[in-house]
Amino acid sequence: MAFRPALRPGAPLLRRDATHLQVGTSPGIVIGDRPGLVDLLRLLDGARDVERLAAIARTAIPELTVPVTDILAELRSAGVVFDATRWSSARRRGLDAEARHADFGGDDPARLRHRQTYGVALHSDAGGRRLTEITQSVLADAGVNEFADGDPDLLVIASSGEPARTVFEEPIRLGLDHLPVVIDEDRIRIGPLVRPGRTPCVSCHDLHRADWDRAWPALVHQLGRHTATMTPAAVDAVTTHAAALELAVEVLAHADGRTSRTLGRCLVVGPAHDDRTTWPLAFHHACTCDLLRAA
Ligand SMILES: [Zn+2]
Repeated sequence: MAFRPALRPGAPLLRRDATHLQVGTSPGIVIGDRPGLVDLLRLLDGARDVERLAAIARTAIPELTVPVTDILAELRSAGVVFDATRWSSARRRGLDAEARHADFGGDDPARLRHRQTYGVALHSDAGGRRLTEITQSVLADAGVNEFADGDPDLLVIASSGEPARTVFEEPIRLGLDHLPVVIDEDRIRIGPLVRPGRTPCVSCHDLHRADWDRAWPALVHQLGRHTATMTPAAVDAVTTHAAALELAVEVLAHADGRTSRTLGRCLVVGPAHDDRTTWPLAFHHACTCDLLRAA
C-alpha cells in the first residue's frame, strides 16, 4: 500500500524563525526551512499518497527543488511525518484515533484489528447498570461495537454484592471467558478474568477463602438472594467512572489478545477514585477447573 503522509498527530505546524519551522510544542521538532517546504507540508492531509503529492508539487510548488520523496522520507524518520495508511483502512473503520495512539507510541496498529469483530456481553443487575453503561460507551469509542448476548468473546457479569455462583455455571460449561465485577460496599472488584480451565476461576477464589473462613461455603449458598433488600452501594460517581474505565481496559486487552491484569488476579477500584489494590489468585488444588486444565 502507498505511503500517505500526514503531519505528526495533534501537532501544529509553526514558524520558529526566518530559517526554521517547528512541528508541535511538546517540546516540538525543529526542521530547517527551504523554499516551498511549508506549501508542501500544508498538502499533507493523510489522504494523498507520495506520488500524488509529487505530481501536485511539480506544478503548484515550482520552488521546491529537492525530490518530494526524499523530503518526506527524511521528515518521516524525524517523526514530523507519519504514514496515515497505518491508521485507517476499510478493515479498521472507527479505529482511527486508536490507531494513531498505537502508532505514535511505537505499537503496531494492526493489533487493533480484532476489535471490529469482537463481541462482549455486559450483564448487570440494577446496581451495576450505570457502571456497565459507562464501560459500553468507552468500548464503543475504542472501536468495540458488538454487545449482543449471542456467542460473545467475553461475558462480563456485574453485580451489586457477590453474585449467586450459579451465574458462572453456564460460562464454565460453554468454555466462555468471563469476568466478574462486584460492587462491594464502597469499592468495586474486577476479576478474576476466567478463561475456563486455563486460569483460576471463581470457585478457586471461594475455596481459597474457605481455607481461612470456615463459614464461607455456607455464606456462598446465600449470595445473590438478598439484593432486593440490600441498601445501594456507597460508591460515588467518579469512582464508578474510574472502575468502568478499568473494566474497559481489561475488555480491550482481551479483545487485542494482550495479557489482562485480571488473569489470576483481582483489581479493586475505590473507595477513592484513584485507589487501586490488586492481589493474585492461584488455582486451588481442590477445584475441578484445575482438572479441566489437566485434561
Ligand atoms: Zn477453579
